[in-house]
Amino acid sequence: MLSQLFQVLALASLSIAANPNYEDLFKPFVSPGTEIATVSEPDFAEVASPRWSTWQPPTFQAAIKPVTEADVQAIVRIASRNKIPFLATLNGHGSNKNYARVQNALNINLENFNSVVVDAVNNRLTIGGGVTFGQISEPLEKAGKEIQTGNAVCVGMVGATIGGGIGTLQGLHGLVLDALVSVKLVTAKGDLVVASKLVNSDLFWAIRGAGANFGIIVSATYEVYDQTSKGEVILASFGFPLSASRSAWEFVHSYDEHIPAPLVVIPAIRYNHTTQETSLNVAVVYYGTMAEAQPYLDQVAALNPISTAVQTVTNSELHEIFSMGACDRGGRHNGYTLGMKKTDPDTMEEIMQEMNDFYETHPNYNGSVSIQRYSNEAAMKVPDNETSYPWRDINSYLLFDNVYADAALDADVDDLSRSLRDKLQAASGYEDPQIYLNYAHGDEPLNQVYGASKLPKLRTLKKKWDPDHSFGFNFPIDY
Ligand SMILES: Cc1cc2nc3c(=O)[nH]c(=O)nc-3n(C[C@H](O)[C@H](O)[C@H](O)COP(=O)(O)OP(=O)(O)OC[C@H]3O[C@@H](n4cnc5c(N)ncnc54)[C@H](O)[C@@H]3O)c2cc1C
Repeated sequence: MLSQLFQVLALASLSIAANPNYEDLFKPFVSPGTEIATVSEPDFAEVASPRWSTWQPPTFQAAIKPVTEADVQAIVRIASRNKIPFLATLNGHGSNKNYARVQNALNINLENFNSVVVDAVNNRLTIGGGVTFGQISEPLEKAGKEIQTGNAVCVGMVGATIGGGIGTLQGLHGLVLDALVSVKLVTAKGDLVVASKLVNSDLFWAIRGAGANFGIIVSATYEVYDQTSKGEVILASFGFPLSASRSAWEFVHSYDEHIPAPLVVIPAIRYNHTTQETSLNVAVVYYGTMAEAQPYLDQVAALNPISTAVQTVTNSELHEIFSMGACDRGGRHNGYTLGMKKTDPDTMEEIMQEMNDFYETHPNYNGSVSIQRYSNEAAMKVPDNETSYPWRDINSYLLFDNVYADAALDADVDDLSRSLRDKLQAASGYEDPQIYLNYAHGDEPLNQVYGASKLPKLRTLKKKWDPDHSFGFNFPIDY
C-alpha cells in the first residue's frame, strides 16, 4: 500500500513544469476537502494563511490547505520532489526579514489542524498544529487548568512554542516549550514521526528552540497545571509623562536582580498623536489576589502616575486586553529586539528621549518600545542542555515594534533601531547580544539567535533531518 503511494507520488513529479499545475500535481494525492488555489485565483486569500505584517513578506505562487496528517505528508513529498519551495504557516505572524527570501513558494495553511483536547486527569493538552493561544483558553479554564502562553490570542501556539514562547505565566511555569511533552511531525522526507524525550529525542531537543527548521508539527501535547489563584489575575496600568518617567524606570530597575514569579512588569514607550506627547505606560500583572498584588501596586502608585487603572480579570481576559490592536493585520511592522537582564534608568531615559525626538520628526511613525519583564526562575530550573533554546537567563525581552505605512521611512527606522539596540546592548548586562528568535529582526548572526553553544549540535541534526533545507526559512540553520 505504502509502496503504491510512493509510485504515484513519483509519477506526479514527472509532470513538473516551470509553472506547475498545482491542481494536477497535488489534488489526486490529498483528501477531497483539501483546498488549493494559485495566487491569481479569486479564492487564494481564503486558502492561504493570512499575513500579519506587510513588511518583508514571503510571496506565494499557490496555497494549499490540508485536512489530514497524510495530506501534509503527501504535500511535503510532492513539493520536495518537484523542487517547489514551501512554507507552512498559521496566522502569518512570523515577520523577520528572512521571510522575504521565500519567493514564489507554496503556502501550506495549517488552519484545519485546530483540535483542542484537554485531559484534566492526566494534566495534558493535545492540540493540532494550527491552534492559536486564544483557542485553548476556554477549554482549559473550564477544566480549571492553565498553561503558560504568549500574550496575544491570535498567535499560533506551536509556531511560538518552537522558538521559545514567552508570556505572563512564564515566571510560574517557564517557557511555553518547557511544557511541551511530545509532538507528531512531518519530516522533510514526508515521514510522520513522534518526537519526545523518549522517542527521537534528538529531534525533540532541536524543535524546542529551533523547531521551524525541522518539520511541520501536526499535533502537540503539553503539560498543564491547576489554575493559580482560581484563575484570578490582577492587571494594573500606570501612565507617566516623559518629563516624569525617571522614577518609573527606577521601579523597573528595582526588579533587575529578582522579580517574584507571579509578578510581571511591562513598561512601554508610546506616542499620542493627538496630544503629541510621549509617555511611559507601566503594566503590572500579578497572578494572585488583590491583597497579594497590593504592595506592588502601591509602589507604582507612590510615584505619582498621571493615570491609573486597576482591574481583576481572568487569564484569558488579560490576553484579550493585551491583544487589542496588537493582533490587527495589515500593518507594516519592522521589529527589532534584544534580550536583557538589566534596565539601566539612565539608558532608558535616553532611549525615551530619542524616541520622543523621532516621534516629533516622523509624524507618520506609530511604533512603540516595550520590555516584557518576567521572572526567569521556572525557565532556569530546566537544565540548559535539555533543549536547544539558548537564552533561559533573559528576564527582559525588549521589542521595538516599529509600525508605519510608508516604505520611505525604512531607512530612518532602521538607523534609529540599530543605534538604540546597540546602546541598550551595552547596558543589557550581557557581553554579546542574546536575541529571542520569535522577535528577531533577521539581521542578527546565527550565534546570537541560536547560541554558539547550541549551533554545532543543531547543524548536525539539521543535516540528519533536513539535509536539503526544506524547512526553516524564518531563520535558516546552515551547515
Ligand atoms: C501580535 C503578535 C504578538 C506576539 N506575542 C508573542 C508573545 O506574547 N510571546 C511570544 O513568545 N511570541 C509572541 N509573538 C511572536 C510569535 O511567537 C512568532 O511570530 C511566531 O513565530 C508566530 O507563530 P505563528 O504560527 O502565529 O506565525 P506563522 O507566521 O504562521 O509561523 C511562524 C513560523 O513558525 C512556523 N510554524 C508555524 N506553525 C508550525 C507548525 N505547526 N509546525 C512547524 N512550523 C510551524 C512557520 O513555518 C513559520 O516559520 C507575537 C507575534 C505577534 C505578531
